[in-house]
Amino acid sequence: MIKLIALDVDGVIVDSAHEVFVVCQKALEERGEILDDSYEEKFMRGRNFLRTAKDFYGIIKLKDKDFDSMSQEYFNDYVNDHEEESRKMSEDFFAMRKKMQDEDYDKWFSLNRVYPGIADAIKNLSKKFSIVISSTKDFYSIYTFLERVRIDISRENIISKEISENKVDQVKIISERFAANFNEIFFIDDNPEQVKAVKKLGVNVALAGWGYTNERQKQEVREEGITILEKPGEIEKEIKRVNEE
Ligand SMILES: [Mg+2]
Repeated sequence: MIKLIALDVDGVIVDSAHEVFVVCQKALEERGEILDDSYEEKFMRGRNFLRTAKDFYGIIKLKDKDFDSMSQEYFNDYVNDHEEESRKMSEDFFAMRKKMQDEDYDKWFSLNRVYPGIADAIKNLSKKFSIVISSTKDFYSIYTFLERVRIDISRENIISKEISENKVDQVKIISERFAANFNEIFFIDDNPEQVKAVKKLGVNVALAGWGYTNERQKQEVREEGITILEKPGEIEKEIKRVNEE
């Protein structure tokens, strides 16, 4: 029986694709590099490859490639081959995000959008299940954002990048911290790679189809027999189905 739901943040609760683009743009600007506004559309197409902020490096540097036909593996290899540069990009990204929040939190907040229906879905689900956040985003952004949109999740239930940037490790930590066996956890993420990796632990998983995932990735996930949820309102029904299996 499912007793805990682990939710990703970006691409599941919040559409932060525009925010992320603007933060990258400003972070690069400080180094004297220009990321033109016209690149945003392309940037969005590569958004579904992101696992951690290090991957921004790949999205920026691979701008002449076709993301729609690129595999996650190719993308990961590129980022791994540029370990130092991508780590620096990640550090600059988080420093810039914090700077923007400190300067004008409301302005920063307005760059984000909450997905329709997710706040109500979480509210309803929290009556029956423990709700835990599993995200590679920074704690401060997650906590203040959820508070602002009135999604009530306590600090201890937020597993953020400061704890681990690896979702499999995060889920292991969640299992221990909340005394939930893997098969009692329902994990929702919009990144196919993360969903597939966590599934291998024996955790029940679903892909959030309302996030950044493209059709090719959805197909790939379907072939693995993983459920794709098209809207937040479908979460409860899917858990019920899993429990009856
Ligand atoms: Mg995500």
